[in-house]
Amino acid sequence: MTTTIESFGVDEALIRRFDRPGPRYTSYPTADRFHEGFDARAHAKWLDHRDRIEPNKPLSLYVHLPFCASICYYCACNKVITKDHSRSAQYLDYLEKEIKLQTSYLPNSRRVTQMHFGGGTPTFLNASELSRLMRMLRDNFDFDPEGEYAIEIDPRSADEKIIHLLADLGFNRMSIGVQDFDEAVQKAVHRIQPEEMTMATLATARECGFQSINMDLIYGLPKQTPEGFSRTLDRVLEAAPDRLALYSYAHLPERFKPQRRIDPTDMPSAEVKLEIMLLAINRMLDAGYQFIGMDHFARVDDELAVAQRRGSLHRNFQGYTTQAECDLLALGVSSISKIGASFGQNVKTLDEYYACLDRGQLPVTRGIELSSDDLIRRDVIMELMCQGDLSMEAIGHSHGVVFQEYFAKELAQLRESFEPEEMLTVSADRIHITPKGRFFLRGIAMVFDRYFQSQVNPNRFSKII
Ligand code: SF4
Repeated sequence: MTTTIESFGVDEALIRRFDRPGPRYTSYPTADRFHEGFDARAHAKWLDHRDRIEPNKPLSLYVHLPFCASICYYCACNKVITKDHSRSAQYLDYLEKEIKLQTSYLPNSRRVTQMHFGGGTPTFLNASELSRLMRMLRDNFDFDPEGEYAIEIDPRSADEKIIHLLADLGFNRMSIGVQDFDEAVQKAVHRIQPEEMTMATLATARECGFQSINMDLIYGLPKQTPEGFSRTLDRVLEAAPDRLALYSYAHLPERFKPQRRIDPTDMPSAEVKLEIMLLAINRMLDAGYQFIGMDHFARVDDELAVAQRRGSLHRNFQGYTTQAECDLLALGVSSISKIGASFGQNVKTLDEYYACLDRGQLPVTRGIELSSDDLIRRDVIMELMCQGDLSMEAIGHSHGVVFQEYFAKELAQLRESFEPEEMLTVSADRIHITPKGRFFLRGIAMVFDRYFQSQVNPNRFSKII
């Protein structure tokens, strides 16, 4: 029998009814709650505190590499567009200063079990710069040989030699940016990336032993049609990457300048966008991919799908992961660290970043120290997003509250809005999300988001359609 989204009881009318803008909850509280009262000194205090109380706890690293050689019009990332490749050498000099400064608060040389290079375009760096960066990191951290080391790849800047080098440097996970193979779409978003080039990247990555290879697709882009996207899916599903991410394009030209270069008459209507989304989900399910939740699909034998079935899935700034909760130290402009019960974000521009480090100061400029209410809500949201199931007693016990009393209002809202639609069940001790409810995880999590519930303008977040 064919597996479709309809076989989960989801149809267009239901999607429209529950389609509200909301965060993706790669963190709670979400980054829009960060404030400047949390600064470099607060971040340093947390590093120092964690190093004293849990010196042996594994560490996760994120390195932000902001440069891109050309602009994709849909982009909402923090990046620097330049053709001047000498700029990355200067950036590495400053990353080195930041590594030294951050690790001066971690004298116990924490073991790294997970690392992610994101951007921008990490492979804007040339071979010797990538090698230098890895040397800098290895000189300052103790890397677990069994760890997960991932990098975002733009096939336009990563030839065969670079992929081999990345494997030699220890990378073993990769996410490849695809979006859509349709040439008209690629032209409309100013990202010309021939299909053969993408497929060659995938083949080389496999040859080099990369595991859990992900491909990113986006629906709702200009000039996109169900027929065109269906052809992209034919090719992608034939290539059978281990994971697929299917993101909704949020067209917010008033917030993101590059998006103003998109011709509004090229945008698909909300109906067409929904049709493309349903088509894509159905094709992925039918090809045997397991829906993990929040835009992510994985082949049933992929570690993410296995972790979901075992109830050991986690979520961090990069999305779903199999790695247990650990401190995340983020390096580079605009990156966000998660240390104990705190989030700290680095300054957003290169000038500010360089100026801070020239003064010998950590470049952290904003963040948040989580309150006990933030902590319990974070646990609830992460349990729902990752396991789709939670024990009220267990969460209540670990936070010293009676869950049913603490969340009486939220439980009533779940019973009223989601239970009648069979998206979840609320019993005496459990909240359990059904397979149908997995497609509406964001809306369910939003019920527990104290800040979102009191927000005046939720439209800064994306929607499904
Ligand atoms: S989508 Fe990626 S490659 Fe394109 S401009 Fe944004 S960060 Fe750079």
